[in-house]
Amino acid sequence: MNPVYLDNNATTMVAPEVVEAMLPYLGQLYGNPSSMHSFGGQVGTALKKARADVAEALGARPEEVIFTSCGSESDNTAILSALAVHPDKRHLVTTRVEHPAVLSLAKHLEEKGYEVTYLGVDEKGRLDLEELGRSIRKDTAVVSVMYANNETGTIFPIPEIAALCKARGVLFHTDAVQAVGKVDIDLAKLPVDMLALSGHKLHAPKGVGVLYVRTGTPYRPFLIGGHQERGRRAGTENTAGIIALATAMKLARDNINAENTRVRALRDRLEAGILAKVPDCIVNGDPEHRLPNTSSIAFKYVEGEAILLMLDQFGICASSGSACTSGSLEPSHVLRAMGVPFTYAHGSIRFSLSRYTTEAEVDLVLDSLPGVIETLRRMSPFREDAPAKPACTC
Ligand code: PLP
Repeated sequence: MNPVYLDNNATTMVAPEVVEAMLPYLGQLYGNPSSMHSFGGQVGTALKKARADVAEALGARPEEVIFTSCGSESDNTAILSALAVHPDKRHLVTTRVEHPAVLSLAKHLEEKGYEVTYLGVDEKGRLDLEELGRSIRKDTAVVSVMYANNETGTIFPIPEIAALCKARGVLFHTDAVQAVGKVDIDLAKLPVDMLALSGHKLHAPKGVGVLYVRTGTPYRPFLIGGHQERGRRAGTENTAGIIALATAMKLARDNINAENTRVRALRDRLEAGILAKVPDCIVNGDPEHRLPNTSSIAFKYVEGEAILLMLDQFGICASSGSACTSGSLEPSHVLRAMGVPFTYAHGSIRFSLSRYTTEAEVDLVLDSLPGVIETLRRMSPFREDAPAKPACTC
């Protein structure tokens, strides 16, 4: 049975058109694009075309596109590059709600002696731009703020942040891994210096990403070796993945408005249905500035993991807003930063839709979920009328 796949912020199905485009490069077209012979050269030509297509989809120039292996590599490269080009600048600014691709790197850099300012968010997950402005110092090497949050879908005002950083003369990087393909991004008009994206979030396969670096931005490579990517990222190119990414980005760009309208309507139907059928639940995030495919819903008095396991029995795939650390379930850093109350944060579920989501799938969730929550609430130790818990002996 096909799953009801509502976990598209984790990863997406590779589009059939994308599989078709990449298959020859996994088969007969296996030459190395850097080879001098024409067998490799034809792959080099395809790579050049893919770079131009990716650039066009972003409003960028081909030479501003560096192919990488994933979003995490792009994020790491951008931040480490900014620090390497300004060795005298030992401060960076980011937010409390970034993906670990940025947040764990920032913590690692703190251990190495860098100073990091972590900007907080309000209860809807919104940043305070005045606070951001105040956090920029003379020794700030880079500001890194995500475009859209992977858990709540909240979209940050990246055009304003980019303009602010430009005015203050500080490099600006945005982790746009969740935004590209869902938000219309035109880098010809958006003054970001660096931007990260990842193929597997937009119906291309895993193992391919992009770091966009605006012309004139000082840059130091992270992977050192061969001369691929004009010496900015060593390693023989993942040609099949790159062709796939270019195809996926073109598909997303050509259909973005129609797809967003359809997906948003389905997401809103799901959300409205849940709020109507299930008491004591709230939507996490900023309802006005949100990815059209994402809905994070907090169910009071229940554990997200328990909800996921029961939904799994109905073939429904979603994701929870908690992480199991050292044996205890901690609400996610994003929900904690937003101050979502404990009794809600523990029961947060992220539903993330895609162009392949159908109305029938949404209705199946609406049929199954109320019963799941009711069953779990009957057993919940968090209920206000629950019997006192015995003391922990571990
Ligand atoms: N940034 C964000 C916002 C993400 O959601 C993810 C993946 O979930 C990443 C970065 C990392 O991307 P990748 O899995 O391609 O390394």
